[in-house]
Amino acid sequence: MQTYYNPNDLDKFSSMGDEAPQLWEKFMSYYGSVFEKGALSEREKALIALAVAHSVQCAYCIDAYTNSCLENGADEAQMTEAVHVASAIRGGAALVHGVQMKNIIKKTRLTMNELESNVEPLEIDAGSGNIPAFEDTLAENDITMLKSNNSIPVMQMNIGKICNLSCAHCHVEAGPGRTELMSRDIMSSGLDAMVENDIKTLDITGGAPELNPDFTWLVEQAVKRGRKVMVRSNLTVLDDEKLAHIPKLLAENKVELVCSLPYYSEKDTDKVRGDGVFKSSVKILQMLNNLGYGAEGGDLILNLVYNPGGAFLPGAQQSLEEDFRLRLKSGFGITFNNLYAIGNFPVGRFLTFLKQSGNFDEYMEKLYYGFNPDTLDNVMCKDQISLSYDGYLYDCDFNQALGLSRNKLHISDCKKEDLSGREIATANHCYACTAGSGSSCGGAVV
Ligand code: SF4
Ligand code: SF4
Repeated sequence: MQTYYNPNDLDKFSSMGDEAPQLWEKFMSYYGSVFEKGALSEREKALIALAVAHSVQCAYCIDAYTNSCLENGADEAQMTEAVHVASAIRGGAALVHGVQMKNIIKKTRLTMNELESNVEPLEIDAGSGNIPAFEDTLAENDITMLKSNNSIPVMQMNIGKICNLSCAHCHVEAGPGRTELMSRDIMSSGLDAMVENDIKTLDITGGAPELNPDFTWLVEQAVKRGRKVMVRSNLTVLDDEKLAHIPKLLAENKVELVCSLPYYSEKDTDKVRGDGVFKSSVKILQMLNNLGYGAEGGDLILNLVYNPGGAFLPGAQQSLEEDFRLRLKSGFGITFNNLYAIGNFPVGRFLTFLKQSGNFDEYMEKLYYGFNPDTLDNVMCKDQISLSYDGYLYDCDFNQALGLSRNKLHISDCKKEDLSGREIATANHCYACTAGSGSSCGGAVV
């Protein structure tokens, strides 16, 4: 078989001087001098050359310097040791560069313990991150501003900021110490607006929405009014006897569940959400499976949400879903319907992490350079409206967390024309919706 390496080719080495004789002569003169006897003996030089030949894996040089070593009196043991030295240095060089890898992991990964919880929330402004304003990028794509579609299929209600967890990436900065809760009156106005505006799906989020005392009422009322209901759950909140009635209520009302599970391993999940979260999530997922949630072809839909565990973008949603499916099934017997890969937004606690860890500018650049204009038609503010616990309307949960809106409208004053073709308030956090495959409450958008 013809191969790239032909021993006879060594005889043609001098042809490398044909078109560049001066360079060739200089090289050969230097080469010859290097191998003359000096402070090192010719045998020592031949051994060094043999080691280097193995390190650069030059078949010609291995041949030439094996012979040279033998001619200069080296024995096989010395030659073998020389090759081991080359191998150790080459292997060690790869290994020591692992320190660079560990430095990057340490800098970019979220860790609850290292996040100073007493840091004031930081404001994000439109020009932040040393990148062009999102509106300028829209203009480059011939878009003056984002506008919602004429029909709005989804209302997302954020019914409170109380949560049993305090995750390191939480854009709402929810936690056990928060007190904000949506009242039954606001819920009722939201449901009325849904019916009047033919908004078919209610997407309930928080905090942990199950901790609002009127959660059950809201689910039942929405179903009574013919709405489809989705609930975003952190799973662990259901691991509490006081809320033991909720899973059955969700199943009876065919509520679609969207449950956060940052990763399929205990270590990586607990790093972001706190000790014991993974085990508790697994227990609740198994319980939901027993109720019929997550079965292929079933009508009780159980979707999971993956968030990157640090200052990096989510990978391909489909391949993450395959990994999750395999690991959760083989490790814990858990099944689910879909996995949504949702990026971390530079808002709330994740913004604090970005700033504290020195990742902010780099992360914003990653988002900016990942900008994909194909995502613009499908960003979630186009076809949903977000209602805050105190009754104000926002374009999305992130604008809500930032208090950003073009005209601060209360649900009690909302008219049909306020929702359709609505002008959307944007800023640089919007790059998180438009990077790569895009990110929304339903995962990738393209
Ligand atoms: S990310 Fe979700 S579960 Fe975690 S603190 Fe925020 S609202 Fe709670
Ligand atoms: S962050 Fe909100 S307003 Fe901005 S593009 Fe995303 S969904 Fe729209």
